[in-house]
Amino acid sequence: MLMSSQDYRESLRRSRPRVFVDGYAVESVADEPSLAPGVNALGLTYDFALREHLAPVMRARAGSYEINRMNAIPSTGQDLLNKLEAVRLLCQETGCAQRYLGGDGLAALRQATHRIDADKATDYSARLAAYINRVHAEDLSLGIAMTDGKGDRSLRPHQQPNLDTYVHIVERRTDGIVISGVKAIVTAAPYVHELLVMPCRSMTADDADFAVCCAVPIDVDGLTIVARPAGRPGEKAALFSGRYGQSTGVVIFERVFVPWERVFLAGEWEHSAFLTYSYATHHRQTCIAARAGFGDLLIGAGALMTEANGTDLDHSHGLRDAMVDLIKIVEGFYACGIAASVYCSHDPSGVAMPDAVFGNIGKLLMATQIYDMHRLAHQVSGGLIVTLPGPDEDHNPATAGRLSELLTARSDIPYEKRIEVARFVEDLTASYQAGWYSVISLHGGGSPDAMKMEIWRKYPLGNKVDLVERLLERGVLSDDVRKITCNRQPGRCCIEGCQVPSAPALVPLPQIGQPAARSVLPLRKTGTTN
Ligand SMILES: Cc1cc2nc3c(=O)[nH]c(=O)nc-3n(C[C@H](O)[C@H](O)[C@H](O)COP(=O)(O)OP(=O)(O)OC[C@H]3O[C@@H](n4cnc5c(N)ncnc54)[C@H](O)[C@@H]3O)c2cc1C
Repeated sequence: MLMSSQDYRESLRRSRPRVFVDGYAVESVADEPSLAPGVNALGLTYDFALREHLAPVMRARAGSYEINRMNAIPSTGQDLLNKLEAVRLLCQETGCAQRYLGGDGLAALRQATHRIDADKATDYSARLAAYINRVHAEDLSLGIAMTDGKGDRSLRPHQQPNLDTYVHIVERRTDGIVISGVKAIVTAAPYVHELLVMPCRSMTADDADFAVCCAVPIDVDGLTIVARPAGRPGEKAALFSGRYGQSTGVVIFERVFVPWERVFLAGEWEHSAFLTYSYATHHRQTCIAARAGFGDLLIGAGALMTEANGTDLDHSHGLRDAMVDLIKIVEGFYACGIAASVYCSHDPSGVAMPDAVFGNIGKLLMATQIYDMHRLAHQVSGGLIVTLPGPDEDHNPATAGRLSELLTARSDIPYEKRIEVARFVEDLTASYQAGWYSVISLHGGGSPDAMKMEIWRKYPLGNKVDLVERLLERGVLSDDVRKITCNRQPGRCCIEGCQVPSAPALVPLPQIGQPAARSVLPLRKTGTTN
């Protein structure tokens, strides 16, 4: 079943999570003004999936169901490309659509449970399959509760003076487990239906109780969410983030009971790292698409601001250079997301895994260049974006008319239109929300160090060393002698060649009045459509 945003809001009204925002208890998440921009953003993921012209990217098939792409598990490179397009489309409209974390979590879990079952003869895959069926049938939104409080970063989980800085198993019963601890940063926590609790790191045997993964409904006994408002609700100047925004919550677990059918890892510490890094690989690739959607907003707003200022991008070389730099950054990191799809690998569980090197490089480029994106938007827009009198002045009889005359630039573009774009650029690049977009780009999905570690681990440095040794006719040193350069990546440039998916599913060009779909990528070389 595909829900509408209205159905989604009604479903939130049926649950009673314990949520606090800014020091007060929230009665109804769906009707809470401080969370409204977040509920609106998730609502759009539901409504877009109901639009027939967006169906090719916004919907996927799971058995006999047509499901929302946000909950889909990719099994082909084509699926990965379609996910990128869907997430970019949603984030163009909302800044961050948040719900895509759920699909990334389910994909990683399918891989990990398949692996654990093979190693330990457990039945986690079957439990997960039943859970996924329910998620698909009910069109649920899932949050990812992975980042623990982590306490002292130099200590492992079991060494922490306060064990509750990590979520862990405190009791094992015949009917399930009891967990306690804290997940420090959970996107959309107050307004999802369920949380996937996942480990955030590799574990040792002493950390076995911390190697836990399970699904909990948002209103389960013992769960408390202490959240921030989503976006800038109620602020007059917040033209974008007053409508769409993202809340994050600290999620506290106090002896939360989880029945076995919802448990997907319970002490198999050797598999914690695989689960964490599989999720990270899926999620980093998806983050690329999310931030490309945000970049589209900056590109469009930057161009509109130069137009309203009376400058002509075709002839103002400095401004045009800045715009091209902005485009280069956004399409540059997005291209890494495409490459990660094209060079995906196929996990034994049937999940298509984005290429980790391209995915991590794309996320790293995005994480570090978000600051340049803001700078370039500032450069083309001018200082008015932060100096313009506030919205209340628009209605001041003593000043409004005069300001309108004096601050008009092009005579054919009304003052109101000019300041509208200026406030839009301020909201996205120079407000509290702008700083927020910087930090989510930098740290969401892992810090730059985490990406660099993965690139170093996965990059086939060994192949490059072999290449040069061959050219120098030195012969190749044994890998036992030189561990650091022994990584040789299977699949790429191998004898079988790569499976190249075709272009993402086509989204027809929008009609006037419909939301703008990003123009479709040109068809790339079609090989095996997997
Ligand atoms: C807006 C936003 C939304 C997010 N949404 C989610 C979500 O939905 N679910 C979720 O699970 N997580 C979420 N995250 C969390 C995100 O994954 C983390 O912020 C990220 O992994 C970094 O962890 P941290 O914030 O705890 O930073 P810290 O662990 O405090 O790290 C700070 C810096 O120190 C470095 N560092 C940390 N430990 C060490 C060490 N031992 N040695 C050397 N260097 C170290 C890190 O690389 C980093 O650069 C979100 C984050 C943001 C900002």
